[in-house]
Amino acid sequence: MTSFSALSHLECPRCGATHDADQIIGLCPCGSPLLARYDLPSVTVTPASLADRAPNLWRYHELLPVRSPDNVVTLGEGMTPLLPLPRYGAELGVDRLLMKDEGLIPTGTFKARGAAVGVSRAYEVGVRKIAMPTNGNAGSAWAAYAARAGMEALIAMPIAAPEICRREVTVVGGRLQLIDGLIGDAAAYVREQPGYFDASTLKEPYRIEGKKTMGLEIAEQLNWELPDVIVYPTGGGVGIIGIWKGLLELRELGWISGPLPRLVAVQSTGCAPIVRAWEKGLPESEPWPDAKTIAFGITVPKALGDFLVLQAIAETDGCAVAVDDEDILAEQHKVARMEGSFICPEGAANFAAIRTLRESGWIRADDQVVALNTGAGLKYPETVPLPS
Ligand SMILES: *Cc1c(COP(=O)(O)O)cnc(C)c1O
Ligand SMILES: [Zn+2]
Repeated sequence: MTSFSALSHLECPRCGATHDADQIIGLCPCGSPLLARYDLPSVTVTPASLADRAPNLWRYHELLPVRSPDNVVTLGEGMTPLLPLPRYGAELGVDRLLMKDEGLIPTGTFKARGAAVGVSRAYEVGVRKIAMPTNGNAGSAWAAYAARAGMEALIAMPIAAPEICRREVTVVGGRLQLIDGLIGDAAAYVREQPGYFDASTLKEPYRIEGKKTMGLEIAEQLNWELPDVIVYPTGGGVGIIGIWKGLLELRELGWISGPLPRLVAVQSTGCAPIVRAWEKGLPESEPWPDAKTIAFGITVPKALGDFLVLQAIAETDGCAVAVDDEDILAEQHKVARMEGSFICPEGAANFAAIRTLRESGWIRADDQVVALNTGAGLKYPETVPLPS
């Protein structure tokens, strides 16, 4: 009999050390994020038998770290639509363009995936108080799932973060700390809070497990045939690393075969540390000074997992691209007018990148391309001018 979770241990992708997963743990002592590893040969569920499971991310529970179904904290996240964009795709010159719409998820962004799995697993290993720095959306999601779990959440957010995220944290009873600075300053504040588990991006090993379900769902929704390209707006990079990790696990299970999709990391020219490192051929990024973009979810001047993002794009023959805020807004409005979908600026950044990559020939006319719209445009009302 297979267990609910096939989690076996935690592994350091930098120094190779392994750690017991059933303890409260953050980074590897070497400073690197830790990755969850599974006993994949013990997994007996098949793609066909998955079909009967509920349409949320917990359908992949063997490949998730929560050991007991009793500890699952859920608001119904996952199995978001994978929508064809025929009219807009034709205009871009990519006929087989698909958008995975993460706007249709609790709290309005894909951050709910990381929060659902991260909070559930934290609860399971005994954490009752979490603290995290955030540009906004992660704080909204973690505060909501913490409330659902009956846990305390302390959310530190730059003053410039969107007001809606402050309100979301407040309504679910999270403790909100505004920080006069950027996300790095919020992180410094969180490090000084005694008694709280630091749930910063990649400082705990499990939110990436939630985010990898985007990759699992794309594979399942395409009937286990992979697209040619997956395009992702990259901040901390957890989503793109997660998709890569999830697809590698599916390949090891034998559920998919052949080359993985070319992964594209998209950033704004106002904050593009990973793109710069990619262009210079560096293994890690350098902190980006004066980071600023309308796509605040990807305003991360230095990501802890940058080396893993660079590895993911290198090993899949992908690339990294930076786009201007002006182009982001133009594509956001085009998608809305041509397809009826109000996407977030981070999601729109993908389409600006796809346009550039199609023009350069890096994306071919017959490539099947999946773009992640990471959140709902509804959370960004200021991106739409009112008619005068
Ligand atoms: C956080 C966020 C991102 C970036 O996600 P990472 O996985 O940290 O790279 C992209 N879009 C939105 C809307 C976000 O909130
Ligand atoms: Zn290590």
